[in-house]
Amino acid sequence: MTKHFILSASGAEKWMNCPGAIRLEKGIPETTSEFAEEGTAAHSLAAECLEKGLSADAYLGEMFDEFEVDEEMAEAVQVHLDYINNLPGIKFFEQRVSYSPWVKGGFGTSDAIVIDKKHVTVIDYKHGKGIEVDVKNNPQLMIYALGVLNDYEIFEEFETFKLVIVQPRTNNISEWEISKADLLEFGEVVREKADIAKSENAPLNPGQKQCQWCRAKPICRALAEQNFKTAAEEFKDFETPISTKDKELLSINEISDILTKLDLIKSWTSSIADYALKIALRGETIKGFKVVEGRSNRTWKKIGIAEKALKNYLKASEMYKKTMLSPAQAEKALGKGHKIIDEHVIKPRGSPALVLADDKREPWNPAKLDFQEPINQGETNG
Ligand code: SF4
Repeated sequence: MTKHFILSASGAEKWMNCPGAIRLEKGIPETTSEFAEEGTAAHSLAAECLEKGLSADAYLGEMFDEFEVDEEMAEAVQVHLDYINNLPGIKFFEQRVSYSPWVKGGFGTSDAIVIDKKHVTVIDYKHGKGIEVDVKNNPQLMIYALGVLNDYEIFEEFETFKLVIVQPRTNNISEWEISKADLLEFGEVVREKADIAKSENAPLNPGQKQCQWCRAKPICRALAEQNFKTAAEEFKDFETPISTKDKELLSINEISDILTKLDLIKSWTSSIADYALKIALRGETIKGFKVVEGRSNRTWKKIGIAEKALKNYLKASEMYKKTMLSPAQAEKALGKGHKIIDEHVIKPRGSPALVLADDKREPWNPAKLDFQEPINQGETNG
């Protein structure tokens, strides 16, 4: 696993909001997940495509960081490539930038930087589809922009910085501009927060953004105390019941209050369950719990040998299931813009989901007719 600078740009949301996290995470090994590894593979694919000037589907079926490039990955990465390829200017990929003037020894690697006469675009690709990343005031990108200012201003007089998040699997391509003066002001905040984070008594400050990726999450007392306090206060501050029914049922406003606190509590409880399983597997006793074997499904021991054996008993029509190509697979076989895709492919409505009111998507409209419009060029439903 790559060793990161402790006060990293990618971890800035954490250490700038909870300076004590650096102290608490000390000694806790960095872990990874299948999703994180898939993201690393998608980044490697993007870097290779940009370097060689190839499209992502040229690598379909190839392995990157032990992940096979499938259509979903290729399509997502292609959105990132198209965004960069459509920008004018000098382009740098996987570019190391130094923000040392603000955080001693600070460096990071930006996915892409495009410099176009007095204007800098810093682009970050996010492969995740769980949580949409907001570009506005995004400290990771702002720190990369500081790095560009530090490393490249000698060549150009930059006035504005455009920061971009390309997160295709949540339909999120967002751009946000910041002036050089505002960026330098942010640099002073970074300097101040980094100094606090390095100090022995750096305070702990639990919150959704900072705790989300913190390695100390399952064992952090400040977060546990806050979550218990939140739960207790939620119930203490409930509205005064005005009828017998109100005494027994939560009101819509109370449910709304609970919802705003739920994400942090959910991710905290599951991090504790994961941590407890890990230490129980190491042999530690967790009072009142034991480790058992989970459920699993039967599978062929060796599929080739099983296939040969099965042929003695079943006809081919009984052994295999036929499945039709997906729209994306058909489009690849037919070529982009084929009339079959225009005429026969639709994008059905997604299921309703409850999200925060400032989410960029249009509100759900129950009256909207679910008529089957052909999808737009280039947009597929996989
Ligand atoms: S879990 Fe949250 S409060 Fe605790 S150290 Fe990490 S970021 Fe800070």
